[in-house]
Amino acid sequence: MSTLVLGHKNPDTDSIVAALSAANLYRGRGIDVTPAAQGTPAPETAFVLERFGLKAPEVVTSVAGKDVYLVDYSDLAQAPDDFKDVASLRGIIDHHKLGDVTSDSPLECFIMPYGCSNTIIKELHDYYKVAIPKDLAGAMLCAILSDTVIFKSPTCTKADVKAAEDLAAIAGISDPKALGMEMFKAKSNLTASPRDLIFRDFKDFDMSGKKIGIGQLELISLDMVTPDLKAKLQAELSKVKGEGRFAALLVLTDIMKEGSEIMIASDDDDKVLKALGGSASQRYLPGVMSRKKQVVPPLEKAFKA
Ligand code: MG
Ligand code: MG
Ligand code: MG
Repeated sequence: MSTLVLGHKNPDTDSIVAALSAANLYRGRGIDVTPAAQGTPAPETAFVLERFGLKAPEVVTSVAGKDVYLVDYSDLAQAPDDFKDVASLRGIIDHHKLGDVTSDSPLECFIMPYGCSNTIIKELHDYYKVAIPKDLAGAMLCAILSDTVIFKSPTCTKADVKAAEDLAAIAGISDPKALGMEMFKAKSNLTASPRDLIFRDFKDFDMSGKKIGIGQLELISLDMVTPDLKAKLQAELSKVKGEGRFAALLVLTDIMKEGSEIMIASDDDDKVLKALGGSASQRYLPGVMSRKKQVVPPLEKAFKA
């Protein structure tokens, strides 16, 4: 039976490209795998796949009875709903805080505090001496540019920069930053329903028993979000909150100004804003770019208290 290599819910570029690149790695090691994603590519990922002539992984939303490798997450909340019925969790490659999945048998885990899962996968190709095809290298470079916001995110490490340089050389890309800007322009596409925009890059977190959902849109300018669109997003956010959450947030990140505006629907906006260093009158937070590093930890701390 072919083992699935599966990224997280609401797939981003890293999780989709990681399914493809980790599949290349496992196959190079003689393991039969099938790359998979829990959804179709968002505009940024569609740009990357098209640019490098790669096919999107097959969409899989049920893993009952299957063997799986996880890429870019280790949280049950990000896994298919029937993950408890998985036949075997064979391994994890991830760059987030350790989540709550567990396994019945020994597994291989490669979890590193890097800016991108594809940085780990690049290093593993070197370690196992598996070659990376040119087009795949280009897509892996884009995953790193995406997750590190063109090396500007505080999550970016030396390992990410080194992997990106190596991948750019393999792919024959002389100006990775220009490629990154082209990609973020594609990502800044706001022609979708308010609901699709909120869920484009959305994660639920369990914070001391409270379910908090956080979406993020990384844009080349916050001016793209018109007052009318903002009102629609706010109304939709209230609905998302009403679906069993204590709070729903949308982080609007300006990748050029390097800061984020926080939109919230919750029972206690002040608590959320205060935890993030803002207030009702100060919803723009200079320097905040990373959900993983600058939004989730302070909220978890505030809700623990
Ligand atoms: Mg991801
Ligand atoms: Mg990632
Ligand atoms: Mg991201």
